[in-house]
Amino acid sequence: MGKSKKSVALVAHDNMKRDLVEWVDWNWELLLSHHLVCTGTTGKMVATTLMERHHQSSDNFDITLLKSGPLGGDQQLGSMIAEGKISALIFFWDPMQAQPHDVDVKALLRLATLYNVPTAINRSSADMLISSPLFADDEYVPSAKDYKAYIERVLH
Ligand code: PGA
Repeated sequence: MGKSKKSVALVAHDNMKRDLVEWVDWNWELLLSHHLVCTGTTGKMVATTLMERHHQSSDNFDITLLKSGPLGGDQQLGSMIAEGKISALIFFWDPMQAQPHDVDVKALLRLATLYNVPTAINRSSADMLISSPLFADDEYVPSAKDYKAYIERVLH
């Protein structure tokens, strides 16, 4: 079993940010060993949690802040997924409120599904994902579907 650094994406809608911050609180030590990729506002809250609650200087963790979700951050993350740069997605989306960028939310979830990125959509699934032996196993690489037939389809 290896312990290589993975790129873990963290995104939470406003009503779910408290949940994500609490989850980061529980898992902060493990998260320090990974590259965190966050939408803007979520990322600022994650960084504040690590600095203020866990007294980590910004040198101690690796975080990339994308744009805020509604301003294109979800799309930036989707693009990283398409490029194979994201190992896991923790995305606490709001089941009770429509978002101005609902189409981007759907696109992000679609790409995560398409590229077989391990995805957690609430605290219990995030707990299970991050604590899975497979998550820590460098030899486990999620298999990508073969879209060759689609790419090479003949169009008339
Ligand atoms: P935010 O974006 O972290 O900038 O609030 C989250 C989202 O995708 O809505």
